[in-house]
Amino acid sequence: MRELTYVAKRTVEWREAPDPKLQSDQEAIVTPVAATSCDVDSAILAGHGFIDPPFALGHECVARVVDIGDTVTAVSPGDLVVVPWSINCGTCDHCRAGLTAHCTAVPHMAMYGAPIGGSWGGLFSDLVRVPYADAMLVPLPEGLDPVAMASASDNWSLSWRLVAPHLKNKPGARVLVVARGSIGLYVCDIARALGAANVLYVDPDPEHRELARSYGAATAETLEPVQHGFDIAVEATGRVEQLALAVKSLAPEGICESAGNHFRPGELPLLDMYLTGVTLRIARDNVRNHIPDALELAASGKVDPARVVSHVLDWEQLPHELPEGRLKPVFVRADG
Ligand SMILES: [Zn+2]
Ligand SMILES: [Zn+2]
Repeated sequence: MRELTYVAKRTVEWREAPDPKLQSDQEAIVTPVAATSCDVDSAILAGHGFIDPPFALGHECVARVVDIGDTVTAVSPGDLVVVPWSINCGTCDHCRAGLTAHCTAVPHMAMYGAPIGGSWGGLFSDLVRVPYADAMLVPLPEGLDPVAMASASDNWSLSWRLVAPHLKNKPGARVLVVARGSIGLYVCDIARALGAANVLYVDPDPEHRELARSYGAATAETLEPVQHGFDIAVEATGRVEQLALAVKSLAPEGICESAGNHFRPGELPLLDMYLTGVTLRIARDNVRNHIPDALELAASGKVDPARVVSHVLDWEQLPHELPEGRLKPVFVRADG
């Protein structure tokens, strides 16, 4: 089989790898049918990542189950499933507490699409081994489009977590979104659907701002901090100075959620944050926990994540098209 492999700045290529085989009775083999780039893949392709190439890329996809081990009960061959970006067992203390990105049965940071906690391959591969099928895989609900939901592995479900629980606690909140890619746009969609009083989306990219307006957000190219302007701020730029501007715009006891991946150091206005009373959360997402909630919202029809999909492309175009740095290209297998 082939793995799409990141080999150098803005360069990916197919490399041959052995077909993955079931290694225990809890495993599954899946074949991605619709896979897309995470916002952090764009940073990696631009050469801003911290892991040296080569490595297999990709950690967002809907896949079809090809084979399962004898004790797997949650999925069957032929099912369409969301594959979470991180590897988790479902039975260790951390997994049972919902900390699925901190599973102790696998090396720290075990994930698809980056060789940080072992080598699990990437989801831009012809075949993928899922080591804990019942714990990890989430069947795609009937009626949801694999192309629209390819990002449920990570960015869509992360976006749900960044804003939905806070809006539940504070209906009618004012929401600030400072972003550069799909996460911020999904947050606009979800915030509007769940009753935010207003949403301001800040991004220098005019096409992204147009999409945000289609979700009912006001937009700005750059952020002038608005003192006490927002109850909830979401930062998804990977830039510390943007995070600093976001926290400076919060109301007393406001909440800032950051999507993280700040590969370069920087400073936060800690005294301002102290005086305002800011809660800042910057956490790798325990995504497996809330994929079902994020899918349920998608299935409700109150949101429209398909609008963020910028291009639907054939699987074979991956080596040429992925480095183009498009907003949210979804690569589809003709035989999927
Ligand atoms: Zn990601
Ligand atoms: Zn675990």
